[in-house]
Amino acid sequence: MKPIIGMPSDQLIETNPRMPGDYLAYAPHDVKEAIYAAGGIPIILPFPEKFDDVEDSIQDIVAMIDGLMLPGGPDVDPLFYGEEPIPEIGMTIGMEDKFEIALIKEAIRVGKPILGICRGIQVLNVALGGTLYQDLKAQNPNVKIQHAQATLGHFKTHHVKIEDNSRLSSLLGDNSLVNSRHHQAIKQVAEGLTVAAISPDGIVEAVESENSNQILAVQWHPENLWQNDKEQFKLFTDFVERSAIKK
Ligand code: MN
Repeated sequence: MKPIIGMPSDQLIETNPRMPGDYLAYAPHDVKEAIYAAGGIPIILPFPEKFDDVEDSIQDIVAMIDGLMLPGGPDVDPLFYGEEPIPEIGMTIGMEDKFEIALIKEAIRVGKPILGICRGIQVLNVALGGTLYQDLKAQNPNVKIQHAQATLGHFKTHHVKIEDNSRLSSLLGDNSLVNSRHHQAIKQVAEGLTVAAISPDGIVEAVESENSNQILAVQWHPENLWQNDKEQFKLFTDFVERSAIKK
């Protein structure tokens, strides 16, 4: 059987006016397509309104999947890294964070592979005890390039420099041109993670696990690039291949 890739859901805030409160759980189209194209079977894991309802099932959920795909989505609630929200922060959904943080910790405990994208790299870092810039422009005076690109989301706009000897460099080489749709970013890198790529102005653009090949996460959106970019597609094939190794 092909590896089963679990993707925690996001939630639409617009609802049917006749059925307010009936929020749709979803995962991004291009991520789902990338997982299929890379040889995996994607399944969506919807987060519950009340974490208590699912807390005792986290182990079973992670046992069901072979890899954990963390897609893009809303900002991470700064309460999870001990900060109050600054005025510039975007929408946060605390219950989504809580569910994903529990899945991440369990996946790491049992050694299942993780691929993080955008919000995914951020929530991963927070789950492991790191912190974020709630808003890059407001909080990091060193930012010199546009990270929330004004142009279309699948256009490549800035470079990233990739660390020698990283897993990422074995996939993409030492430099890559990427898209960039984020206003938050990693501030303090969590213990157990190592920086695998930085932007020209020094923002963390990718991390990996220090001692194994379990975790790879990027700040850009390879799911909007792989269709025309064989290199970026390797992020997904590499992840599905790692997930195919039985734990
Ligand atoms: Mn960027």
